[in-house]
Amino acid sequence: MNFNSFRKEIFSNNASVKELVNDIFAKIDQKDPEINSYICTTKDSAISQAENIDKLIQNNEDLPPLAGIPIAVKDNICTKGVATTCASKMLKNFVAPYEATASSKLWSSGGICLGKTNLDEFAMGSSTETSLFGVTSNPWDINRVPGGSSGGSAASVAAGFCAAAIGSDTGGSIRQPASFCGVVGLKPTYGRVSRWGLVAFASSLDQIGPITNTVSDAAEILYSISGKDPFDSTCLDKPVPNYLADLNKSIKGLKIGIIKECFEHPGLNSEVKESVLSGVDRFKTLGAEIIEVECPRFNDGIATYYVIAPSEASANLARYDGVKYGYRSNDGLNLIDMTSKSRAEGFGDEVQRRILIGTYALSAGYTDAYYKKAQKVRTLIRKDFDNAFKKVDLLLTPTCPTTAFLKGDFVNDPLSMYLSDLLTVPVNLAGLPAISIPCGFDTKGLPIGMQLIGNVLEEDRILNAANIFEIDAQVINNRALF
Ligand code: GLN
Repeated sequence: MNFNSFRKEIFSNNASVKELVNDIFAKIDQKDPEINSYICTTKDSAISQAENIDKLIQNNEDLPPLAGIPIAVKDNICTKGVATTCASKMLKNFVAPYEATASSKLWSSGGICLGKTNLDEFAMGSSTETSLFGVTSNPWDINRVPGGSSGGSAASVAAGFCAAAIGSDTGGSIRQPASFCGVVGLKPTYGRVSRWGLVAFASSLDQIGPITNTVSDAAEILYSISGKDPFDSTCLDKPVPNYLADLNKSIKGLKIGIIKECFEHPGLNSEVKESVLSGVDRFKTLGAEIIEVECPRFNDGIATYYVIAPSEASANLARYDGVKYGYRSNDGLNLIDMTSKSRAEGFGDEVQRRILIGTYALSAGYTDAYYKKAQKVRTLIRKDFDNAFKKVDLLLTPTCPTTAFLKGDFVNDPLSMYLSDLLTVPVNLAGLPAISIPCGFDTKGLPIGMQLIGNVLEEDRILNAANIFEIDAQVINNRALF
C-alpha cells in the first residue's frame, strides 16, 4: 500500500491507524513465515505509536508528515531497546542502547516502526542468503532470492508487510533488491543521510536510504531522514530541499546519458537490456534528450570495490573481539585464543572471507599493489562521472545485469555473486545518488529494474525523472502481492 492510499483509508475514516497497523501484523503473522522478511517485529510499541497518532487525528491536531506510516528497518540500523543483530551470531543478543539518527527522524516525523528486516550478514552479499535467521524469499517467486543485502526490506515492501522500509547501500544493497522485488530503492548522495547508528561495513561507501512502492513515497522518506547531524562528521551541512515539490515537473529537454559500457557488457541479460532500452524510448517520448556517453572505467568498479569495501570492513569489524561487543567463545585458553575463537565462531563464511581479503590488501607490502591502486581507480571512476555530467543531467543503466536468481545459485560461487553488483558499485565509489525503479518484466514474470544516477546532491532531479516515468509507464499496477 503506498502512502497516499494508506492516508485515504485513515482520513476517510474507514479505519483507524491502529486497525490498519493491526491488519498488517495479522498479514505478517500469516504470510511472513513463507517470505521471512522480518527478523523481529515490534508490535506493542507499534500499537502504542498508532494510538498516539489516532489521538492526534481525533483531536484535529497538526499531524507530522509521516503520521501513521508503517515502516520497517533493516537490522543493521540501531533501534533503541530493540535487538540489532546484523543477521549475525556475533550480534545475536545485542540490544542497541541508542537510536540511529535516520530512524529516529522517521519516528519523530510520525512514522511507526514495525520491526527489523532480514539481511545478508553484516550487509555483505547480494541475495540475503547468509543471514543467521535463514534465507528471505522473493515475493514474486519464493524459489528465488529477493536480492541483497537489504533483501528483507525490499521483500517486505513488495509483499505489503509495511508501507516503506529503510535499508543501507554500500555497493547496491538498496537498489539491487528493489530491482529484484519490483519496488523503488534510492541510495542518496554520500553524506546526505547520517550514518550514525548504522553498523559500519565500509564507511566511505555506506548510505541509508528508502525502499518504497512509489517514487513519491521515496521522496517523502528521503526528506524526513536527510540533513546535517552533529554525530556524523561526514554528514553534509546542506539544506534539504522539499523533494516532493518538483516531482511532477516536465522533463522536456532533460539530458539523459546512456552509459555505453554498461549496455555492451557481455554479462548483461538480453531481456533486461531490451526492457531498459524500451524504458529509454519511453523517456524519449516524454521529451528527454538521449545522449550516449562513455565511462571507460565503469566496468572496473567491481574489482575496485572488492578491494576497498573489504579493506574498510576488516578495520570496522575489528571491534568484534568477544570483549567490547558481541559473541564470546567459552573455550578460549587465553585472550588471543578467546578472541580468535570468538571471531571464528561468531562470523559466517562470507564475513570472514571479506575480513581476510581486506586484511591482506591492507598489509605492509600489499597496500601499494592493491589498496592504493584501488583508490586511484576510484578517483578515475569519479572523473568519468564528472566528465559525463558535463554533457548530461542524469545517467541511465539497468540496475542489475539479471533478474532475481534462484536460491542456491551462487552460494558456493562468490565471484559470480559479486558480478551482480556490476552496475551499482561505481555509484557508491563516486558517492553519487541513484534510484532503481521498475521498468518491466522478463518472460518468467520477474521484475526488471532501471537505474537513474544523478550528480552530487541532485536527488531532486532523479526523483523527478523517475516519478514522471513511473506515472507514464504504470509498470506495477497491483503492488500488494499477498
Ligand atoms: N552486494 C554488495 C556486497 O556484497 C553490496 C552490499 C551492500 O551494499 N551492503 O558487498
